[in-house]
Amino acid sequence: MTHTNPRLAALRAIASAEYQLQQVNFTETHMKDLFGKNVFSEAVQRERLPKPIFKALQKTIRQGAPLDPAIADTVAAAMKDWAIEHGATHFTHLFQPMTGLTAEKHDSFVVPTGDGKAILEFSGKELVRGEPDASSFPSGGIRATFEARGYTAWDPTSPAYILESPNGATLVIPTAFLSWTGEALDKKTPLLRSMEALSNQALRILRLFGNTEARRVFTTVGSEQEYFLIDKNFYYARPDLINAGRTLFGAPPPKGQEMEDQYFAHIHERVLACMADCEAQLFKLGVPVKTRHNEVAPSQHEIAPIFEDSNLATDHQMMIMEVLRKTAPRYGLACLLHEKPFAGINGSGKHNNWSMATDTGENLLEPGDTPHDNAQFLVFCVAVIRAVAKYPELLRVSVASAHNDHRLGANEAPPAIMSVFLGDQLQDVIDQLEKGAAKSTKQGGYLEIGVSVLPKLPKHAGDRNRTSPFAFTGNKFEFRAVGSSQSIAGPNTVLNTIVAESLDYIATNLEKAKAQGKDINKAIQELLPSIIKESKKVIYNGDNYTPEWHQEAERRGLPNLRNTPDALPVILRKDTIELLTRYRVYTERELQSRFAILCENYVKTVNIEARLMSMMAKTMILPAALRYQGEVASTVNATKAAGADNSAQVELLKSLTATLSDFQKATATLDRALAHHADGDVLAHARYFRDTILPAMAEVRTFGDKLETMVADDLWPLPTYREMLFIK
Ligand code: ADP
Ligand code: MG
Repeated sequence: MTHTNPRLAALRAIASAEYQLQQVNFTETHMKDLFGKNVFSEAVQRERLPKPIFKALQKTIRQGAPLDPAIADTVAAAMKDWAIEHGATHFTHLFQPMTGLTAEKHDSFVVPTGDGKAILEFSGKELVRGEPDASSFPSGGIRATFEARGYTAWDPTSPAYILESPNGATLVIPTAFLSWTGEALDKKTPLLRSMEALSNQALRILRLFGNTEARRVFTTVGSEQEYFLIDKNFYYARPDLINAGRTLFGAPPPKGQEMEDQYFAHIHERVLACMADCEAQLFKLGVPVKTRHNEVAPSQHEIAPIFEDSNLATDHQMMIMEVLRKTAPRYGLACLLHEKPFAGINGSGKHNNWSMATDTGENLLEPGDTPHDNAQFLVFCVAVIRAVAKYPELLRVSVASAHNDHRLGANEAPPAIMSVFLGDQLQDVIDQLEKGAAKSTKQGGYLEIGVSVLPKLPKHAGDRNRTSPFAFTGNKFEFRAVGSSQSIAGPNTVLNTIVAESLDYIATNLEKAKAQGKDINKAIQELLPSIIKESKKVIYNGDNYTPEWHQEAERRGLPNLRNTPDALPVILRKDTIELLTRYRVYTERELQSRFAILCENYVKTVNIEARLMSMMAKTMILPAALRYQGEVASTVNATKAAGADNSAQVELLKSLTATLSDFQKATATLDRALAHHADGDVLAHARYFRDTILPAMAEVRTFGDKLETMVADDLWPLPTYREMLFIK
């Protein structure tokens, strides 16, 4: 009897495959001409819009001025003509519902004229507002209480673009997604609100320093995306990768990442071809991707864009993930964006580099060369430290997901304990500040605000601590706990809001002092020590991976929310609601809705994984093991019949049978746990999945992986770690 073994079929297919690697030609179209080719950019707007309309639109984009509805028709007409010249047949409002993905519904430009012909139309109304049937998106109960419908609203601060596809192109309009009563149903709306909150507070500080020019402060973000690329033949042979995004089984490979020969290594030709294709597409879409390299784990890579304002960076980040996912198959690859596709080797994160900048281009976390600049830098820097110290749990919950639970706290990603890394020099400055104008240990002088110049802070990567979840890196902070598959909207919404609160606190104090006629530098010198004293428990410059840090953090009373069900209740805490409603980032109802959605999402994710695991155990691993058991049993009999000593074969049969029996028992336990429904609310369900289902899954995996090391190789149906991570 012959069996088609999907794993061996995948290996054969890979060995004989030929690939068309040359799919983009940068000599035909130069990179710089490609960049922004498909974007309704400022340059295109200037060229195609009447001057007053262009100016009004730019005012909205740059300063957040309300959009004059009267200009919408003209903008829409220009957009339509431009889109049609680029081959567009349809337009779509793109939004970011709580699924964590993007959503789109396409409408054609075609309108029949009634006489058998048609014209192309796109009105200002269609540009500004869309009404997708929103009833099937997660709302966490918001729509049950109100109306079933939601609407999308044009976000002019993120430019429209053309999405090319083999049969025609689509004009894509970035939008916010709201319920009819104005509640956010998406990830963009709270982000935009948080940017507004931060801008308002940051401007107060800038005014205190005599800056009358800046009209807006933007938060800036550059996020480094990690991902895996494996051969797609392997991918199709692994139901767990297809449906859960991660491997639920897989024995540790003999060679993993211990040789440290993958990081920054030479890039495989097929992978490089795929990367270049992704970059060409992203350039056209105006996404400023800059860096590509191999990451620490085998088959792991990274792509990083140049930073932009956080709204645009978030939209672009979604585009990066989409383009990676879509392009990989053209090169016979599958892109895995999951935080932990493979156990035992590094998972993937998305380092979120974050800063604040004025509309006049000044980076507010850049230490300057003059005492005046330094004083301002110190205020903004201390504001961020205070924010993390005051709201570490909120930051933690902003990166919580069933996926990221496999990564945070493992010995490769920052721990779930939030702390700030400053580095030696900045730490020294902060220490001096805390003591007032004490004698500097490192600089041999006094740090007097408004008079002293700061030491040069290092920006070199070599000086950095790579284990900290939140690190100062020269002129920005890097939030490293963000997961590779998640939207960066949530973490940035939290970051912007908690820093806005800190800036508010500082501005209020300084404004008061100023009103009393106090010198601003003196007021700062008096205020910062108390903030540092209060906040310094969150600063840690050592190795965050060590058990010593965990003990130390506990001693300092820093929260350690180990997993998603531990973290989620933070959303409904009184202080959270108070903070987020005060800055109008979320309403209380929106927070209740987010909480419900995230709990449900956790339960659904683990539930899918568990069902998948049970199915794979029973229909793939068990049959292979039983076949092998049959073979061994025949050999036991045949050896005996031939009159030879069969004790070794009997031993093998015994141990195989024992493992098989453990495996079946574990699978049955998992099935029973899945059949039992937890009582109580959504959070109780989430806890049940964490406390009962996940351990049952771990048990099934232990014996499944053990079988992988026992069953004959030609019978094993699942591509192994050894193969998936190393064969291309
Ligand atoms: P690395 O961390 O690998 O040394 P870089 O320091 O060049 O690399 O930066 C990593 C990311 O940080 C890039 O996306 C970069 O654009 C971004 N970045 C640099 N400056 C800022 C800033 N002021 N605000 C936000 N992100 C920034
Ligand atoms: Mg980095």
